[in-house]
Parts: sequence; C-alpha cells; structure tokens
Amino acid sequence: MPVLNELGAARRIVIKVGSALLVGPDGAAHGAWLADFAADLARLRARGQQVLVVSSGAVALGRRRLGLGKRALSLPEKQAAAAAGQSALMRAWEEALGPHGFACAQVLLTRDDTETRRRWLNARATVETLLSLGVIPVVNENDTVVTEEIRVGDNDRLSARVAQLVGAEALVLLSDVEGLYTADPRRDPTATLIPRVARLTPQIEAMAGGANAAAGVGTGGMATKLEAARIASQAGCATVITLGTRSGPLAAIEAGAPATVIEPATTPRAAYKAWIGGSLSPAGALTVDAGAAAAVARGKSLLAAGVRSVDGRFDKGECVRVLDPDGREIARGLVRYESGHAARICGLKSAAIEAAIGYTSGPLVHADDLALAAHAAISG
Ligand code: GLU
Repeated sequence: MPVLNELGAARRIVIKVGSALLVGPDGAAHGAWLADFAADLARLRARGQQVLVVSSGAVALGRRRLGLGKRALSLPEKQAAAAAGQSALMRAWEEALGPHGFACAQVLLTRDDTETRRRWLNARATVETLLSLGVIPVVNENDTVVTEEIRVGDNDRLSARVAQLVGAEALVLLSDVEGLYTADPRRDPTATLIPRVARLTPQIEAMAGGANAAAGVGTGGMATKLEAARIASQAGCATVITLGTRSGPLAAIEAGAPATVIEPATTPRAAYKAWIGGSLSPAGALTVDAGAAAAVARGKSLLAAGVRSVDGRFDKGECVRVLDPDGREIARGLVRYESGHAARICGLKSAAIEAAIGYTSGPLVHADDLALAAHAAISG
C-alpha cells in the first residue's frame, strides 16, 4: 500500500515536528518553514481530515530568550528554558496557522496524563472538544513541571501517545532523516531505505541501533522513532517517518517522496476496546436485566432502564464491570454518570433521567465505550 493511502484515508493525523525543523541556527523560530508547513496542513484540513501537531522547540527557543547560548543545560535551566520558550513556540504556530483561518490551542501533557486513566480520559475529552471546534491542538510535553525520571522525554514517543489518545489512524514523524535504512547511510553506501515495515521484528529494530540510533538532531534518534511506531502500531495507527525539511513534506510523501511506513497491528477501535477490557481495577459494577444483557451482547449501548443495581463508587468516565442477572461479567465499559447519579437513574427510561438528576449524558455506557467479555479477553 503506498503512503498515499495511509495518509489519504486517515480521519485523524498526528504530526510530530522536531526542534531541528522549527528552530533555525540563530535560535529563532523558522517562520518560512512554518508558513509552508501550515499550507500543507491546510490541504489536509480541506480534505476533511483532522490534524494534531506535536511540536518540540520550547527548550530551543527558550535558550535564546534567556540568553543561555548553546551550552549544556542543567535540568532546572532546561525547565526554565521550556517555560520561556513555550510561549514563543505558540506564537510561531499562531502566526503560521492564523492566515489559513485556523485557531490553535496549546496542550501540555506529562507522562501521568497518558498513563493514569482518569487524567487520560480528561485529556482525551479536552482534545476531542478542541477537534470538534475545528481547532488544531499543538501538543508538547509540560517540561517545566516534570523531572528527568517522570518525563516522556522525547516527542517521538509523546506523539505516539497522542495518536493513541485520539484514536488517530496515522502518525507522521517529521525529522531530518528520510526514513529507516538497512544501515547508516552516511557510512554504508549499500544502505537502502525500507519503504514499508509490516511488523516491528528484532531484525528491524537492530537496524535502528548502532550508528543509526543517533541519526537525527534533537532528542530522539531512530530507536525512539521505532519505539514510537511500536506504541502507535499497537494503538491501531500507522507511522510514517520522513524528511521534514522538504517544502510541503506531507504533500511530498503523498507524491512519492521517500519515507518509511510502519503498519498498524490492529485498528484504533479494536485497540481502544482492548484497553477498556484490559482495565486492571474497574471501579464498580452495574448489574443489568436479561434484556439489557442481550442488547449489550449485540453491541448496543447500556441504557439506564436495563440496569438493576449499581455497586461501588466511581466518577464519570471510569471503568465499570457489567454483570448479567446471574452475576457473570459480560462486559466492561466507561460509564457516563458518577455512581450516585447512576444509582438514582437505574431502572429509569431515558426521558426520565433529566427530571431525576437535572441533566442527561445519554446512555449509562455508550456502545463505543463497551468492551464485550467475549471479545476483549477480560481477565476477571
Ligand atoms: N519538549 C521538548 C521541547 O519542546 C522537546 C523534546 C523533543 O524534541 O523530543 O523543547
């Protein structure tokens, strides 16, 4: 399958832009590159695709603002540089995207936000809202508040987590290398670019080791790119590694410019359901009547009317077990009401929910957020 299909067919695309592209040798933002790239993004948006950008450059731009030069920085200095540079970074994106009529929004994430379920759900809800409003989220790690031990550390992996967060079908890593080579092309004239990787095998990973691991300026070399690709692949997202310095890098790869595509191992939907099904500690349980159990098994949403009892304490968005009248777990799902409200509406028809608790969020658990026991290999 050519790259064209992966990019062309994706509903949501996450694009990672590295510092080397964004920040010129003088330490200032690369306005011309950004303006050109914004036109490339506008083309995707005009085709009806949603885009998210993961942008590095805060530390690099902050160095200049704070007069830190090119020397090695201590962690507090890096954090200070990130704090000073992040606003310059956003200004650069606003100046580039504004002329195309796009609003952008700063989203700063930490590793906790992608690993703690409640924070993950929160971040996801915010990013979904931004996308539904037509905004282009510009994501970076919240470097100012994270220490070395708890950082994601590089935006390659962060961008894969973002792709997972939003269920993107394509992740593009724009860097200063054309893709994955069989060996380091600067040393080995026989090295060839690998256009497509169906599965990340140890052999493929070995190609990213050694000298190739250091390829690319910025934090991440080829090894972190493949790690990002692994996260993305398991989340149902294809990864494209390509050179970002070309004019219109996304249009270029669609027109056949060199790139490496790492194929997804699943679909975003299946990955999302597996994530729900694999929840280690559901916060509560909903016992449903036979009719609702049958409806859930057919892939329908769980309505309050079919729920007999609510156990446990949980917040809106948390994972709960769905039990049939015999107490057997038939599914897990993310609940749309906190436990107190869930208890008050169970047994009620949808039309009566608002009168009971003052609002409605639709079904107790939406079909999209339900993972059936039979399909999701729930461990019990
Ligand atoms: N978050 C860092 C920054 O904005 C960049 C990390 C990376 O490039 O991988 O400066």
